[in-house]
Amino acid sequence: FQVSQTKAHLENLNRRLLNAQKKLRKQADTDSLTGLFNRRSFFRSIQQEISRFGRNKRPFSLLLIDIDHFKRVNDSYGHSVGDVVLQNLAKVLHKTAREQDIVARTGGEEFCILLPEENQEKAKVMAERIRQQASEEEVEAKGAEIRITISIGVAEIQPLEDVDHIYNRADMALFRAKSGGRNRVEVD
Ligand code: GH3
Ligand code: MG
Ligand code: MG
Repeated sequence: FQVSQTKAHLENLNRRLLNAQKKLRKQADTDSLTGLFNRRSFFRSIQQEISRFGRNKRPFSLLLIDIDHFKRVNDSYGHSVGDVVLQNLAKVLHKTAREQDIVARTGGEEFCILLPEENQEKAKVMAERIRQQASEEEVEAKGAEIRITISIGVAEIQPLEDVDHIYNRADMALFRAKSGGRNRVEVD
């Protein structure tokens, strides 16, 4: 009787340990402010997609998203309101993206979406939809209605390209979106 009781006890402990491990792993991959994937796990996902692309030649695309003049939001309403705006944009991105897309917060006010199996034409359509949605959102805080716009850089994976390279191309497209006047989408 005692042996079976000890066995049940050990099984219970083991289950709890596995659950705790799973929770920790999820935490390590998640951005705590928004609940989106963090930079580290996002780059791992790009790497996996590149490997898959090497095998089946089906492309994927990357969207780099940066809030326009976000510093002004912080300066006008404070950092904690800025945080709420970030959380709200995260929700918009999450609900506008499809199930298979991977949405991440990769930096302070920078977000990325990986679109599996999408070429740059389709990715551009998706980016436009996201840009539009984001610009229609309103966050109420301190008696004001805060609106933001976002700029997006798009790049489709090319043969033999590594993670840094596609990321840099999307970043250059984003830079063009910014210097072209913001609230716009540019494709590499
Ligand atoms: P641009 O249109 O050129 O992107 O202008 P910007 O003001 O968005 O860009 P800039 O890089 O000058 O400022 C980014 C701001 O984002 C500054 C920083 O305080 C704010 N920021 C970064 N991380 C966070 C965060 O976690 N919470 C809040 N509230 N603000 C953040
Ligand atoms: Mg930025
Ligand atoms: Mg910005």
